[in-house]
Amino acid sequence: MNVGVLIDMDGVIYRSHDLIPGADRFVKMLKDRDIPFLFLTNNSQRTRRDVATKLSRMGIEVEEKHVFTCAIATARFLALQNSRATAYVIGEGGLLNAMHRHGFSIVDHDPDYVVVGEGRAFTLEMLEKAVHMIMNGAKLIATNLDPSCPTDRGIRPGCGAAIAYLETTTGKKAFSVGKPSPVMMRAARKQLGLSTSQTVMIGDTMETDILGGVQMGYRTVLVLSGGTRREDLAGYAFRPDLVVNSVADLCDDALFNHDILPPGDPQDDTVGDLEAWRLANAK
Ligand SMILES: [Mg+2]
Repeated sequence: MNVGVLIDMDGVIYRSHDLIPGADRFVKMLKDRDIPFLFLTNNSQRTRRDVATKLSRMGIEVEEKHVFTCAIATARFLALQNSRATAYVIGEGGLLNAMHRHGFSIVDHDPDYVVVGEGRAFTLEMLEKAVHMIMNGAKLIATNLDPSCPTDRGIRPGCGAAIAYLETTTGKKAFSVGKPSPVMMRAARKQLGLSTSQTVMIGDTMETDILGGVQMGYRTVLVLSGGTRREDLAGYAFRPDLVVNSVADLCDDALFNHDILPPGDPQDDTVGDLEAWRLANAK
C-alpha cells in the first residue's frame, strides 16, 4: 500500500442527487487497485449507513466502514475528552446516533456540552435553550463551521450559521471538529492506517477539504466539479497540489503511478516535501 485517499462527497462524487460523471468509475478503480479510501463529509445529518445507502442508489457500492462523518468525529473526540459526559444536541439522526454510540447521555438540562450540527428541524426555542446552557457553563461544540449547505434550489443555512447565532448571542467561541479541523483530518488518516506522506485529500472546497489537507501536510487534489472555479484559486494563500476537472480525470491510470503520486514513506510521519513533488509533476 503506497497511498490512500480521503474523499469529500458533495461536489466530488455527487451534486445533490446526481452522480458526477465518472465518480463510479473512480471508486471502482480504487477498489480494484486495493487503494484504501474513506469518504469524509461535514454533513452530520446522516448516519454512515444512510450515506452508504445514498451512494448505493447512485451505483457506488461501499460499506459503512468507508464513511466518516463530522458527527462521528465529534462524538469520538468528545468521548476521549470526557467519557460519561452529557450533551444537549441540536441536530439530526446522524449526530444523535453518533453521540449515543459513544456513550453520551442526551439531556435537555444542565449538559456538559451543547453540540450543534446542521438540520432543518430545530427551532429558535432550542437555540434559546442552548444560549442559557452555554451561559451556565456548557461548552459549545460545532460539528463543522460550513456557513451553508447546497440544495436543489440553492443553499440553506449550515451548521456554521447556527453556531454564529449562538456565538454572537453568548460571546463564547465554539470548538469545531469537522473539516478543516486537524481533529477530523487526523482521525480519518489514522482510520486508514496511513502515514502523513501516504495520505491524499480530494475535495471541491478550499476552506475545508484543501485547507484541512494542507495543514496536515497531506497531498491535496482540488476538483472543479463542485463549488470552486479555477480562477478562485488566486484569492487563497494556500493551494492544492493538483487541480483536476473532476474525479473522472483521476481514473487515468497514470495518476496513481509512481510518476504522479510517488509512494509515501510509511515511516515518514512529517510534512513531506510537497514543493519538490509539485515541481516534479509540473506540466
Ligand atoms: Mg464538497
